[in-house]
Amino acid sequence: MYQEIILDHYKHPRGAGVLDRPLGEAHHVNPTCGDEVTVQIGLDPSGGLLIGYLGQGCSISQASASVMAEALTGRTPADAWPIREAFLELMHGRGTVEPDEEILGDGVAFAGVAKYPARVKCALLAWMALQDAAIKAGLAGAGPEDTISEDAQADGGDEEGRAAP
Ligand code: ZN
Repeated sequence: MYQEIILDHYKHPRGAGVLDRPLGEAHHVNPTCGDEVTVQIGLDPSGGLLIGYLGQGCSISQASASVMAEALTGRTPADAWPIREAFLELMHGRGTVEPDEEILGDGVAFAGVAKYPARVKCALLAWMALQDAAIKAGLAGAGPEDTISEDAQADGGDEEGRAAP
């Protein structure tokens, strides 16, 4: 069932495309799989997030961008960043984190992916690009967990870079 959700987002990406007036944009590449995604961020007149994205690559990377856009579009940054944190926690949990569908929506479909480190990078690509775009737009979350640290390295961001020595 989870695989079907991922495939559905891959085949029918929600909200794909570019924004008219993005406030920030970031292009991230996952060289181990060949995935690429550009994520744009903006705000609608009522203060809700607008998210644009374009990408190419494996079904997990592209479906993840679609799930992200669907989950976060229209939410205020303050509401959106905890969802991003929850998705990161899920993907870094190596399969031990129980996903909360109320928070993550279709993001729960990636729970099984968390067991496969190589695919975790695919699943996180768009969410890392979003963080970079948010920083450029001045919209990055102010929460204590939301630092620039390992989540927002330069393009090609390798969030597994802190692997054990
Ligand atoms: Zn991939």
